[in-house]
Amino acid sequence: AIDFKWIRDNKDAVAANIKKRNSNANLEHVLELYHKMLNLQKEVERLRGERNVVANKMKGKLESSERQRLIEEGKNLKEGLLSLEEDLLKLTDELQQEAQCIPNMTHPDVPIGGEDFSTIRKMVSGSKFYYLKNEAVMLEMGLINWTLLEVMKRGFTPLTTPEIVRSSIVEKCGFQPQGANTQVYSIEDSDQCLIGTAEIPVGGIHMDSIIAASLLPLKYVAVSHCFRTEAGAAGTASRGLYRVHQFSKVEMFILCRPEESDFYHEELIRIEEDLFSSLGLHYKTLDMASGDLGAPAYRKFDIEAWMPGLARFGEISSASNCTDYQSRRLGIRFRSSEPALTNPKKGKSNLAPPQFVHTLNATACAVPRMIVCILENNQQEDGSVIIPEPLRPFMGGLEFIHPK
Ligand code: AMP
Repeated sequence: AIDFKWIRDNKDAVAANIKKRNSNANLEHVLELYHKMLNLQKEVERLRGERNVVANKMKGKLESSERQRLIEEGKNLKEGLLSLEEDLLKLTDELQQEAQCIPNMTHPDVPIGGEDFSTIRKMVSGSKFYYLKNEAVMLEMGLINWTLLEVMKRGFTPLTTPEIVRSSIVEKCGFQPQGANTQVYSIEDSDQCLIGTAEIPVGGIHMDSIIAASLLPLKYVAVSHCFRTEAGAAGTASRGLYRVHQFSKVEMFILCRPEESDFYHEELIRIEEDLFSSLGLHYKTLDMASGDLGAPAYRKFDIEAWMPGLARFGEISSASNCTDYQSRRLGIRFRSSEPALTNPKKGKSNLAPPQFVHTLNATACAVPRMIVCILENNQQEDGSVIIPEPLRPFMGGLEFIHPK
């Protein structure tokens, strides 16, 4: 029930709130009706009291003329009461109707203004962040789950990873957590930062350890969010989903014997190409030039896919062989169980000395770029988008996304 007494007692605050909320509620009218209702209620109570007095008098011994007069009086009172009660009911209805329009009071932190809620949306995270909704959410989940299973089928161990790591690990993986052009978000007053890629927490798993050679190669496929400041990237495909500050990615990572890293690099590229072919993308594989390798890679192959919105090929994946660059910094070695050929008589040292592993990483699915490719390449004339067949079982059988 509406607390009319509170509204009356806090008239000024309610009036100010109505103004602040741009409401068309008529507080004066509500209070006027409330006032009338209170008076009417009093009148009804008074008549009820009188009627009771008459009724009580009738209970005693009375002269017949007196009784007749009381009966008449009682009848008049009853009629008057019925009519007032009807008025009261109508007035109460009107008051309720009128008072419904009064808005709730407003939290003191709410910014005062009109209906400019779009400003609030912008305030949520800033530019280069996005929401996905409805089928686009299913597309993201479908891409992740399908990719994960495809890569697992090829002998990779699935992982999810921490998305906050120590800055020292970022450094040891060959990235710069500080400096003017850093791509890394640091957490203030801590020695931690947000990961730019799952390569970093996966690289850290075997830090400062010696792995039995028999366990190599170790193949991981990790799902994580990636956070990038994209410093210095202004203007380059800066609209839409192409370059964003936070995105989901499925990343492959291999630790292997040094002599095998070229072979596994090839394998990673084959897997990427298989995945992108299955999704029906038009792509080309590039052997990256030295100026484009970044610090940790010894060799890098990027894959670019056709993006109609950009009217050019755009990068969708990157496969790097980092040789022992990361493993030296992270202290990841392996020891062959076979005895060394030299020093056959020297007890422990008979074992081959530990060697640094080679590390490789490659994108299996950078979600937003895949969404761009699928939406832009698979759109039909009627605006609907065909879902690539392999993803459908991971999207509840959905075959098309229809424009709303
Ligand atoms: P990288 O680890 O820099 O080689 O990036 C791996 C892949 O993630 C790239 O090939 C892109 O497909 C994707 N990617 C990189 N940066 C972004 C970004 N800012 N927004 C969306 N996708 C990105």
